[in-house]
Amino acid sequence: IEADWEAFAAIIKPFMGTQWQAGPIVNGQLCQTGEQHSVTAPYQHSETVGQVYWADADTVQTAIAAAADFYPTWRATPVAERAAAIAKLGDLLEANYGELMALCHREAGKTLQDSIDEIREAVDFCRYYAVQAQEHLTTPHTSQDFNGTSFVTERQGRGVFACISPWNFPLAIFLGQVTAALAAGNTVIAKPAEQTSLIAYRAIELLLEAGVPAGAIQLLPGDGATVGAPLTSDVRIAGVAFTGSTETARLINRSLANRNTAPAPLIAETGGQNAMIIDSTSLPEQVVRDVVRSAFASAGQRCSALRVLFVQEDIAERVIPMIRGAMLEQVVGDPSLHQTDVGPVIDREAQAGLLAHIERMQQEATLIAQTPLPHNAEQGTFVAPTAFEINSIDQLGREQFGPILHVVRYKASELDQIIDRINATGYGLTLGIHSRNETTSVHITQRVRAGNMYVNRDQVGAVVGVQPFGGQGLSGTGPKAGGPHYLKRFTKTVRVTQA
Ligand code: NAD
Repeated sequence: IEADWEAFAAIIKPFMGTQWQAGPIVNGQLCQTGEQHSVTAPYQHSETVGQVYWADADTVQTAIAAAADFYPTWRATPVAERAAAIAKLGDLLEANYGELMALCHREAGKTLQDSIDEIREAVDFCRYYAVQAQEHLTTPHTSQDFNGTSFVTERQGRGVFACISPWNFPLAIFLGQVTAALAAGNTVIAKPAEQTSLIAYRAIELLLEAGVPAGAIQLLPGDGATVGAPLTSDVRIAGVAFTGSTETARLINRSLANRNTAPAPLIAETGGQNAMIIDSTSLPEQVVRDVVRSAFASAGQRCSALRVLFVQEDIAERVIPMIRGAMLEQVVGDPSLHQTDVGPVIDREAQAGLLAHIERMQQEATLIAQTPLPHNAEQGTFVAPTAFEINSIDQLGREQFGPILHVVRYKASELDQIIDRINATGYGLTLGIHSRNETTSVHITQRVRAGNMYVNRDQVGAVVGVQPFGGQGLSGTGPKAGGPHYLKRFTKTVRVTQA
């Protein structure tokens, strides 16, 4: 294992000093007209990673026009050809994984393990949607009515799709949305998160190299106000695939609804207030491992991450000290070292928000443990993994997107009450259950609203094509990403009847 990590370190080493350049890509050309922003590494703010031009208002308009112009050509391109280019992107991601790992690590502050997982997931999305497109979108369905008149029903792309993505999976979620929309026959305007434009730029360069024509994919780095909002209010946009916070999804929904045109679909994957319930029959050693991983992996910056742990009071005195012990053993620090468990959070703004929440909790709750920070933590945006004991999930409010865990004790007789309180948050993303009593776990899975439930294991992520991932309630619209119904949402059905 040691040798493998050394090999990974050697593979990213040539890119540890690289300065990447990025900007809008319109019809295959880099535009350098907007404001230029410097990108710094989350773990070391003195380290510059590159420069990025953000799209200005004119570039946004030119990109929308280019995508609209090319749509008829891309729609008419055989599905097999579209799928082949997307599958080829999977190969190119693999061929360039050293550079992509270095980018995930330096621009997004990811650990080596998270960077590897990120690239693997992006590759899986490419291959899965390429196969799915051929399976579900290729053959027009021919039928006859009772008079013998034949008609053909066919799925086509909807038009120009805006794909608006977050920074926490800057390659996997970004490319998952883009490749699904393209495979289904849409032209795409990709709007990456402002924190991770360099990764997005490199990914789109590879997409073009894979054979996707320049008219089919436009890239617009920039912020929500200058790029995101003008996209969602423009009548030429036929649909939006969005992953990010619930608050932004609401803004987009309103913007789409206010347009003077037919409603456009919004495929939204948003935030959560994810709970885990552990009862007195569960195995403490396993629980502790899964709790720490679910709450603190990726510095808690996963939409699936555990935020509120409900511990049945009979085992609380055993489990809570064990969680404290495990937290004190975690290593926070430089994400390029393989012994690091928890790296930095994405930026100063995220750090400030999380520290403010910790400060509020220090007044209102009991501290269980805080993992020590490295001596040079002030050089980056580190937040110490922290756990508090609280009285009720109702104390929390909105999602805190970082390494903070809240623990609530409950009595066996209160199980239905806590299920009600979890549902009352309005979110419905992930739920963990640890119990060796099957009746209890079935009781819970049937009553909690959550799109993704995990029994007797950690609650991190999903496997593309095997475990489709998506939320309910405030956590998303579905259909689940990485599942068989996802691509269809990017299409419309057209019927042709012949005499
Ligand atoms: P965010 O909502 O701040 O930003 C997401 C994207 O929306 C960015 O590209 C941003 O520039 C853009 N945006 C902002 N304002 C906009 C507007 N008015 N119109 C159009 N676009 C706009 O989210 P984030 O901080 O980048 O990501 C973290 C959030 O994403 C967390 O809430 C997390 O739970 C969620 N998330 C959910 C899933 C899921 O599958 N459910 C996966 C990953 C992340």
